Amino acid sequence: MSKRFPKPEITLDGIYSKFADESFCKDFLLDIRFEKGFACPFCGGSEYRRIRSRHLLRCKFCKADISATNGTFMHRAHIPLRLWIVTAFLIMSNKCSVSAVTLMRALGVTYKTAWYILHRIRKAMKCREELYLLDGIVELDDTYLGAPTHGKKRGRGTEKVKMIVALSKNAAGNPEYVKMSDVPNLKGITVGRFARDNIRPGSKIESDNARSFQETVGTEILPCF
Ligand SMILES: [Zn+2]
Repeated sequence: MSKRFPKPEITLDGIYSKFADESFCKDFLLDIRFEKGFACPFCGGSEYRRIRSRHLLRCKFCKADISATNGTFMHRAHIPLRLWIVTAFLIMSNKCSVSAVTLMRALGVTYKTAWYILHRIRKAMKCREELYLLDGIVELDDTYLGAPTHGKKRGRGTEKVKMIVALSKNAAGNPEYVKMSDVPNLKGITVGRFARDNIRPGSKIESDNARSFQETVGTEILPCF
């Protein structure tokens, strides 16, 4: 008997159909770019006039015209907006990373263009990730990635890739956001650096490794059960 999979809410075919028209893409991206309110990237002004024929917003203060891509990672790339959106969908819907070769075949573009799109999107994702720190209740732990090994060291002495994972939880204990990083070792200085880069000072940290992480992070760490 074949296994039944739930029907996905969004499909690649649906994305291609919805974003077939470049004008629609411009308006769509413009809307989501300023969905929390307009802020002129040039003067910070908050009032604008929409110029629908050109798919722009004109700042009422400095008169600058702001497009969907102006000042973003897509600016002056001369690549159809549809391709950026399809690529974002492919990245978000694949557990494994999307390679430039895969993207080249999926989009029907050159390898150079596929690599460029991926590079720009990954760089933007990294910048956005660095803006945020986990806070509140944060569960901090180490883990290992790699195939099972036989007859080799286990635990912290393993030859597998060592990872530190931090998961923030809301007051009800439900997971909210996660950050993780591969690290060369699990020494105190390494864990401390990870904590400083990813967790807001004053957060309540829970960990199975409370004792070892306690010395490291220098903040309150509660055992996690
Ligand atoms: Zn302005």
